[in-house]
Amino acid sequence: MPELPEVHTILEDLKQAGLQGRTIQQAHVYWPKTVNQPDVATFCQVLPHKQILALERRGKYLFLTLSEGWYLCIHLRMTGRLLLVDSASPESPYIRLRLDLDQHQSLYYHDTRKFGRWSLVKDPQLILGKIGPEPLAADFAFIPFWDQLKQRSRALKPLLLDQTFLAGLGNIYVDEALWEAQLHPLQPANSLPRKQAEKLHASIIHVLQRGIDSRGTTLGKGRTNYYRLDGTRGEHQALLKVFRRTGQPCPRCGHLIERLVVAQRSTHICTHCQTLNVELF
Ligand SMILES: [Zn+2]
Repeated sequence: MPELPEVHTILEDLKQAGLQGRTIQQAHVYWPKTVNQPDVATFCQVLPHKQILALERRGKYLFLTLSEGWYLCIHLRMTGRLLLVDSASPESPYIRLRLDLDQHQSLYYHDTRKFGRWSLVKDPQLILGKIGPEPLAADFAFIPFWDQLKQRSRALKPLLLDQTFLAGLGNIYVDEALWEAQLHPLQPANSLPRKQAEKLHASIIHVLQRGIDSRGTTLGKGRTNYYRLDGTRGEHQALLKVFRRTGQPCPRCGHLIERLVVAQRSTHICTHCQTLNVELF
């Protein structure tokens, strides 16, 4: 699933490809549920002749400011991908939506599992309003983060996956941040002493920035994976320390990485480096 670094990379790719300033000529929806709101007919009626004024990211959302006060919020969920192609390019059966642009180009939305959602709204806060702080923003300071941790008794892994607590993290980067901070995924958030909370704060920022710097994580070779706008792979998978490295040695201590299930999610840890500290409960 694309997480903050993958969505950020797609955003940068879209900017690089010159999407800002372009005009949408027509929208085609092939899988109606892809459009979260408004209804498909209104979606297709409103989009023609709208100009893309700005492109941003908020959490795992791509967020396009259009002319005449409209906003397009795109969540890729599990398997959503964007392709900027010549309008005459063949469509695969997995294209759920397409926007035809000026200059004979189209933005194809490819989604094998069909969980991705597009919302066209006048008030983006309806979609983005509940998302927690941005971990790479300059104002993501340690003290407010620690204050929030102290108020939650939930285990770290499900809490960090909760987009209302913190924006952008998913399974890959939570496992990587917890390994780097040497914290067990089941450690209750309010049990962390200041030093450990500081390590977690720094690790979250570090693993996300590392993911962006290496243009995201592409695991495996299937069409359900994350790919960049031009179809190339990210490079972050080579830098993963624990995620999907079950049975391989921990890069810090050599103990073999184990897989557990936490909050119904596959979780990868080094049980030697990431012990559950029951004394802190
Ligand atoms: Zn270890």
